Amino acid sequence: MTAPAPIRRIVIVGGGTAGWMAAAALARLIPAGVSVTLVESEEIGTVGVGEATIPPIRNFNALLGLDERDFLSRTQGTIKLGIAFVDWTREGHRYVHPFGEFGFDVEGVKFHQIWRKLHAEGRAREIDAYNVCALAMAAGRYQPPVADPGSILSRMAYAYQFDASLYAKYLRAHAERRGVVRVEGKVAQVPLRAGDGFIEAVVLEGDRRVEGELFLDCTGFRALLIEQALGAGWESWAHWLQCDRAVAVPSASPGPEITPFTRSTAHRAGWQWRIPLQHRVGNGHVYCSADISDDAACETLLANLDGAPLRDPFLLRFEAGRRKRAWHRNCVALGLSSGFLEPLESTSIHLIQSGIHRLMALLPDSGFSPVERDEYNRLTDAQMEQVRDFVILHYHANERQDGDLWRRVREMAIPETLRRKLDLFRGRGRFFRHEDELFAESSWIAVLLGQGVIPAGWDPLADGLDENKLATSFERIHEMFARAARAMPRHEEWLARNAPAG
Ligand code: FAD
Repeated sequence: MTAPAPIRRIVIVGGGTAGWMAAAALARLIPAGVSVTLVESEEIGTVGVGEATIPPIRNFNALLGLDERDFLSRTQGTIKLGIAFVDWTREGHRYVHPFGEFGFDVEGVKFHQIWRKLHAEGRAREIDAYNVCALAMAAGRYQPPVADPGSILSRMAYAYQFDASLYAKYLRAHAERRGVVRVEGKVAQVPLRAGDGFIEAVVLEGDRRVEGELFLDCTGFRALLIEQALGAGWESWAHWLQCDRAVAVPSASPGPEITPFTRSTAHRAGWQWRIPLQHRVGNGHVYCSADISDDAACETLLANLDGAPLRDPFLLRFEAGRRKRAWHRNCVALGLSSGFLEPLESTSIHLIQSGIHRLMALLPDSGFSPVERDEYNRLTDAQMEQVRDFVILHYHANERQDGDLWRRVREMAIPETLRRKLDLFRGRGRFFRHEDELFAESSWIAVLLGQGVIPAGWDPLADGLDENKLATSFERIHEMFARAARAMPRHEEWLARNAPAG
């Protein structure tokens, strides 16, 4: 029996956010003696969107050793403290999904349970009033978290909004400095080995051949390796997440203020994002093509900008779903080639990041273990399903009266996993985070309550606490948090103050 071939050459195909994130991480982490080559085609280009993130992105940047000031300046990045949802629950309604926790638990009773009881009795404010990130969002202010748990600022949590093409460029420089070899060219063929059907090489137009033992498919929606060459299979989730197109356009910043959050506004046949960066604002209208024409979707987008468009809007087509096997044979799909959930909770870049982490934890050094591959796929599937359920919640729990889309998603059968969560929460506000679930309890609670899923009752343990004392301490918490938020610098001032010199 011959020994399995050692893995000495890793080939990444695709130079979008997924490709360069993978290249930068591999360059930092893989053992000496393993080469990394990235093939990309300028002619094909990248998807050109993907600007908002969630807090774990900071761990990725820290792993690479990126300096935050330098990163923000090179990517025209801004701080994101959460998402404001406008008109989602019903027209005229607004709520926020802030990062960071709400209030404090008392004697083992969850904060939101006590809040539910006091609020029902008219003795508590809306729940955002007890979250320092939500208060800073409303004030347009920001200050970084501190480690001291005694400080209110320890409760700040944040992510970034950045220009994705600048981020890819930044990571490219980082990866190339650490030895990643970039090859410009268009992959024309993907020959498979006789016998096991593993990818042998990618052949570029002009017959250049790039060989490897492990291939990362970062070719975006094309899924050139994982699907076109290997036929790993696709599972559609379009019956749950019915939006299948987006029109996107950058616009000029409306003024000097830069809001430290992403805004999502529901429309008749979808929703519109607004992502403020330092040099411009990113906008897009995600919609269901069965409910609105491309032209009308474009008109809606342009009619709801708060600055002049900087170019013509561009159209993107997609389908929500996932690759049946993200790791198949000697190929791992990362980014859009592995699946797509619409950008409502800014999770795609995070899914790339966690795919890279899983791959590093299971990186083979010789041969391919089916057990390790299956574990990768199992963990990937579980994470995609959890994020899918969270995104579906926003659609399903709506009371909007306009447009057929909103009626359909309200009435549709939802995944059993989400149904259980909703039933449990509707009773006494109970919620359990499963295993390594990405979104924390506070995120689910913000969206459940925001979307109008109000529990009928509360945890009976809350009845055992002194109500008058709780009402007083709630008011004190709010005042403390509001004071802390008011004392923060305005977000744009903080950015200017923290720009690198020169
Ligand atoms: P791409 O950017 O499409 O890159 C594909 C690469 O493959 C390119 O370099 C291309 O040249 C190369 N390639 C393809 N075919 C070949 C070939 N034959 N030969 C050589 N090279 C080839 N994510 C977030 O986290 N936050 C957001 O706010 C967000 N908003 C989004 C909005 C929309 C409407 C959409 C559609 C997506 C959004 N995403 C968002 C997702 C995000 O854009 C992607 O996850 C991210 O950009 C990664 O893309 P990618 O690298 O997988 O693919």
